[in-house]
Formats: sequence, C-alpha cells, structure tokens
Amino acid sequence: MASATASFSSLSADLRDVKATRIGAVRQQVAAAPAAARGQRARAVRPLRAAEPGRQPVSVSAALAAPAAPVAEEAASAIPAAVDYEALARELEGASPLEVMDRALAMFGSDIAIAFSGAEDVALIEYAKLTGRPFRVFSLDTGRLNPETYQFFDKVEKHYGIRIEYMFPDAGEVQALVRSKGLFSFYEDGHQECCRVRKVRPLRRALKGLRAWITGQRKDQSPGTRASIPIVQVDPSFEGLDGGAGSLIKWNPVANVDGKDIWTFLRTMDVPVNPLHAQGYVSIGCEPCTRPVLPGQHEREGRWWWEDAKAKECGLHKGNIEKDGQAAPKSANGGNGSAGAPDIFQSQAVVSLTRPGIENLLRLENRSEPWLVVLYAPWCPFCQAMEASYVELAEKLVGSGVKVAKFRADGEQKPFAQAELQLQSFPTVLLFPSRTARPIKYPSEKRDVDSLLAFVNSLR
Ligand code: SF4
Repeated sequence: MASATASFSSLSADLRDVKATRIGAVRQQVAAAPAAARGQRARAVRPLRAAEPGRQPVSVSAALAAPAAPVAEEAASAIPAAVDYEALARELEGASPLEVMDRALAMFGSDIAIAFSGAEDVALIEYAKLTGRPFRVFSLDTGRLNPETYQFFDKVEKHYGIRIEYMFPDAGEVQALVRSKGLFSFYEDGHQECCRVRKVRPLRRALKGLRAWITGQRKDQSPGTRASIPIVQVDPSFEGLDGGAGSLIKWNPVANVDGKDIWTFLRTMDVPVNPLHAQGYVSIGCEPCTRPVLPGQHEREGRWWWEDAKAKECGLHKGNIEKDGQAAPKSANGGNGSAGAPDIFQSQAVVSLTRPGIENLLRLENRSEPWLVVLYAPWCPFCQAMEASYVELAEKLVGSGVKVAKFRADGEQKPFAQAELQLQSFPTVLLFPSRTARPIKYPSEKRDVDSLLAFVNSLR
C-alpha cells in the first residue's frame, strides 16, 4: 500500500507547533493518496489560523458545488462558518460515505481528523484514502485496550502509511482515580468517571485543536442512543479550535450504513480488521468493559453490560444521550427504557420475590431452608439466555428442600440490589444458605444446570 507522510508544508512553523501541541505529540501527517493527487492536494491545503480576520464564510452551495481540488484550496482560505449544517445534513442524507468523506475533507482541510477507535471504523480511513485527499487520524489510548487493539493500530499505521495521533489521559488524573478507587471502580459505581478521565478529557483536548471531526457512529449501533444521528451536525457537546458553542462540526459519514454493509466494504477492499472481531467482539472498547456478544445480540450489549442499556455511551458522543433523554421519557420501572419487556423465569417452581420478600430473606439468620435467587432484568439478553437452565434447575429442585426464586432488580430496585445484594451485572445468582446470614454470590459465568446445581449442593 502506498505510503505518504508529508507534512503540510505551507503551515508556518509556529502554527504547526501550536497544532501539534493541541492535537497530540506527533506532527501532522497526511496519508495514502495516490502519489500525483497527493502532491497536488497537499500543496493545495493552506495554513488555517485560529482567528483569521480576513476569512470570509462560504455558502454551502459554493463549498459543495466546486470540484474537488479547488474546494480544498477554498477550504484553506475560508472555513465555512456560515453553513447551515442542518440543511447540509438533509442534502447529504442520501450521499454515499465516500461522498460525505470527500465533502468533509474538502471543507476542512487540515482542521479535520478521523476519530479511530480500533474497530470497524477503520472503514473511515479506507474512505479517506479513496478520496485521494490528505487526512489525519487520531485515537484515544486509554491504557486499558486489548493487546489485539494495540497490534491492530500498528497494522493500520503500516497499511496506510500513517501515524495515528494518539491522545493519552492525564497521568495525574489516572493516578488519583486508581489510588482512591482501585483499578475496576467502573464495575461498582458506573463507567462515567473512568471514561471521563481516560476518554472524554483526552478527546476534549484533541478536539480543541480541530474545527471538525469524523466519527464512525451509525444509527444501527444503538437503538437507544444513536437512532437519529445526522450525517453532519454542529457538535452538541464539544468545542473546537475557535472555542465556544458551534465551533466544532461533527461528521458521521456512515450514519446511515448498516453494520453488515460496512463489513462487506471492508472485505471487498481487503482492509485489515481487529482480530477481536473473529472472537465474537463487535463493538470494541476497553478490555475490562467490552466482551463478545452472542449471535443475534445487539452489538452494544457487549459494552458496559452491567449497566442499563440506555446509558451506553462513554461520553464521546454524550450529545446522543442528552438528545435522546429529551425525546424519550423514562420508563415506569425507573428508566431502563425496557419496561415493556415480557417477564422471564416464569415457572411454578420459581418464586417471584417482592422487595419486602427479599428483605425478609436478608434479615433471617437461621433460615429453615436454603434459597437460590436470581437477580434479573427481563430485557437483559444474558438473563434471557439462562432462563431455560434456571427453570430446569428449579423444577429439578422441587421437593429437595431448596427454594428457587427470582427478584427483578432493575429500575428503581437497582440501587437497593447494588447496595444490599452484591448486584454488579445481570444476572446475579445468590444462594441464601440455611444457616448462614449472608448470601453467597455465584461466582461463575457458567449458567448451565449442572454448574448451578453443583454450586447449590456444595453450599446449601
Ligand atoms: Fe474506563 Fe471502561 Fe471507560 Fe475504558 S471503557 S475508560 S476502562 S470505564
């Protein structure tokens, strides 16, 4: 694969240094354009100053109607500050990702960069390469990524002849978080704090050096939070180089593309992919917060699976949640957005416990019989997956002296379950032995009948 790492030669030394500091520790790179086009277009991108007094806004039509290389020239001299991005999003609604990518790079030149997560958003890099324009790529190294993802970054750099502009968390902030709360605090009090330190603040620093960014968000990735993302928008959450609301534009070239079509594109273009995909991972993030999904499960189910589905954004695209939160009222059971899910573990052998019922169970120090209780949420696919084995177990234990029960622990019951019942993720299985006050949590991910039975029999 052809390689190109030409600096933007027309940037003044001072401006280059300022931007390198803001975006990352490496110099600006452009990549992988065919040699002739690369030379021509790299020369066409002129320096863009943070507050260029003579800059004239250009109209959408002027920016978009011009042919490719002259548009890059135009972008260099006039960032389209007066563009109506809602109108532009409507105009581009039916455009191909390649066309959108070309428009984005043409309009913003060296002030735009692709946010690369190390997953199938590598398609964005391929599209950028195909435009023949210079492009930049940045990524957030949280320090908690899978080894496979780091190897994949290296492979992508070599494949496209680029240097990814990595952003790192502030060492002092990471140190303070880990020393005060440990390495896995996100399992106990939610992922937002860790994501804020390791992802959101480094992203904010990266974006302060840009006027636009390109993401791999797709509508089909998260019905709860991404169903209405536009092709292009004024970023609702972050600021760009010039500061203030409206100073950053967010491009989502694959917003309307199905995941399967992304994969068809990657295979057709022989693009390298993260080896974790072959292990069942779809959405890829940090190692402790990402796991493979089952066939037929939604890809976001593999991220922060111990939390409610509605909050599954790490803060990088938090505008999605705020917007969605305005549009969608909380569900009756406390806000997981799935109050209508049909109940599960429905069997005469499974006792359905109310809150007072399980509180009584907790209080008893000398229970006459052991109780096995699953803490569940009916919308949780992992709970659904163990339904058959749990019901079969309950039916096997009828007459054995062991009671089998369920307690719905999502929504408004969740804080209680987290505080009193060791709930971290769904499903959680607890055994209340007959002579011990404290319930014992089933520690394994194996949820077949034999494994659960062995747990009960060894501790009852
Ligand atoms: Fe921390 Fe997990 Fe967020 Fe990564 S995804 S920053 S490990 S909470």
